[in-house]
Amino acid sequence: MSNEERASVKEMQALVYEAPRTMSLRKLPVPEPERNEVIVQVHYSGICGSELSGFLGESSIRRPPLVFGHEVSGIIAYNGEDTVNTPGYG
Ligand SMILES: [Zn+2]
Repeated sequence: MSNEERASVKEMQALVYEAPRTMSLRKLPVPEPERNEVIVQVHYSGICGSELSGFLGESSIRRPPLVFGHEVSGIIAYNGEDTVNTPGYG
């Protein structure tokens, strides 16, 4: 993603856990990468078995609001400072 494209993308879609058994698709601001971090443009995301217990309200570590989908595939859209990878597949 070029710097011009990056600057034009301000929001992303996220599946947000709102409350037990309640989720919504929201638009959230695209985060800025910190030092040694990258921003991944997610192409696919799965819902993990551990998230199922969170969705049901049976997990003490998953408290709303929370973005689900920690098992993802995608491309590195852009890098923070001091990262080694360049944008693309990594
Ligand atoms: Zn998992």
